[in-house]
Amino acid sequence: MTPVDPAVVAERAATVRARLDAAGGADVRIVAVTKTFGPSAVDAAVAAGLGDVGENYAQEAAAKLSEISSAPTVHFIGRLQRNKVRLLAPHVDVWQTVDRPELATEIAKRAPGAKVMIQVDISGEESKGGCSPDTTEDLVMHATDAGLEVIGLMGVALLAEPQAARPGFSLLRGLVDRLDLDECSMGMSADLEIAVDEGATMVRIGRDLFGERLG
Ligand SMILES: *Cc1c(COP(=O)(O)O)cnc(C)c1O
Repeated sequence: MTPVDPAVVAERAATVRARLDAAGGADVRIVAVTKTFGPSAVDAAVAAGLGDVGENYAQEAAAKLSEISSAPTVHFIGRLQRNKVRLLAPHVDVWQTVDRPELATEIAKRAPGAKVMIQVDISGEESKGGCSPDTTEDLVMHATDAGLEVIGLMGVALLAEPQAARPGFSLLRGLVDRLDLDECSMGMSADLEIAVDEGATMVRIGRDLFGERLG
């Protein structure tokens, strides 16, 4: 896994923070996405003041998080198979990609009372995951009934042009408000300003903190 230089990460974190401030998102939380980078990336993010870290791949995350020397709040943000929940349960604090009832049930079994977010399909691309906007309320209720703490909604936008993400972001924020939830996780390196403008409370940033991913 690609090593990172903590000084460079700290510098980039300040730049991302400044972009958020300039976009009117001084309170927006940065989730540092460390997929394909090793334990040193997690430790560098925490040292740079980013206490929230995002992981996409179950095996990679479990291995990496066993080796870190810091104590971040860990968000799972990747596509999640039900049979990986047990492996991840000791490491994950916030499950951001709950998009079907079976997954909520399994998380409730392996991590009772855990914080979760419901992933909503805001791109129309099935490969990105997410429940349809009109089944979101039912899934929030299912997860809540299972004893989970539903803190908000998460979405992955179209990756084409940053501006192409805007309608999806607007849709997600509308759902967060209608369901009276707190958190709205949307926006990545390329479109964080648009996400903030549409009401994100959390942006998920990889590249602009750690550089290009190899493979
Ligand atoms: C990789 C990833 C990110 C970070 O994307 P960057 O373009 O590297 O900032 C955010 N969210 C999800 C779901 C991802 O898979």
